[in-house]
Amino acid sequence: MSYCLIDGKAIATQIKEEVKEKARILTEKGTTPCLAVIQVGNDPASTVYVGNKKKACEFCGIRSLSFELPETITEEELLSKIDELNQDSSVHGILVQLPLPKHIREDAVIRRILPEKDVDGFHPINVGKLCIGEEGYVSCTPAGIVELLKRSNIQIAGKECVIIGRSNIVGKPMNMLMIRENATVTVCHSKTKNLQEVCKRADILIVAMGKPKFVDASYVKQGAVVIDVGIHRNAEGKLCGDVDFDSVCENTSYITPVPGGVGPMTIAMLMSNVVKFME
Ligand code: NAP
Repeated sequence: MSYCLIDGKAIATQIKEEVKEKARILTEKGTTPCLAVIQVGNDPASTVYVGNKKKACEFCGIRSLSFELPETITEEELLSKIDELNQDSSVHGILVQLPLPKHIREDAVIRRILPEKDVDGFHPINVGKLCIGEEGYVSCTPAGIVELLKRSNIQIAGKECVIIGRSNIVGKPMNMLMIRENATVTVCHSKTKNLQEVCKRADILIVAMGKPKFVDASYVKQGAVVIDVGIHRNAEGKLCGDVDFDSVCENTSYITPVPGGVGPMTIAMLMSNVVKFME
């Protein structure tokens, strides 16, 4: 059976073009959208992510402010930087690149960002809004997956969706979003029994477990849609996902590649969040 590759890169570019147009209009009307990005320390992976976010801002016509703070900064100092950006009316979104050094409490930092500027969608107010179906910022990766499905004309309503992973940034918000889209959702985790059997029920299987090439053909029903959230780099520097693409692809109707699937969507949705509530 032949399958269709979901082109996350192309869909992400389309979304960034839409953001660019909105940002252009907002700028013309006198307000240039602005994202503040805070990085603490110089973890190489974080530096790459922050760099990609800044590049995307540039592409979209969003002003980006970048704050590179030393690893030794205290939690109090970081919180007061956030307070300053909360009060700055020219800043529309604030993002603190995670993970943070051990001496800083991530939850305290997440809670300090005003929910109206929480473009990552991690603040409990935004998480709560997602749960009760109110408009707010939604975590970028799961929001991007819904866009990938919709823009590939994949029907979600009434479908059996199985999610592997229950993290706060992917699995849990993904669950809420798929319920909102009228799927019937099962969330699996490390204590789930008979994982293969449960996954085989899925019309749409979303894998966010952080285990390279874990999911093979034995987890996938013929004709299922498979979304691979995982990102791993092997010893030769080659990227792969949580899904063993070569084993699984022939079973699927649609599948995301790694790289070029979910990854580019996360940044595109971040850009989209910056302008989401601006008029
Ligand atoms: P995480 O916080 O480590 O969560 C992993 C989840 O998978 C947990 O809920 C865990 O269950 C579950 N799990 C682990 N092993 C399992 C097993 N053998 N069977 C069933 N469930 C299992 O990871 P995350 O932050 O959600 O990220 C997941 C992956 O996506 C990572 O590879 C990450 O790099 C990638 N990611 C990509 C993007 C992107 O933009 N493409 C964004 C975010 C994350 P328990 O809860 O029981 O421990």
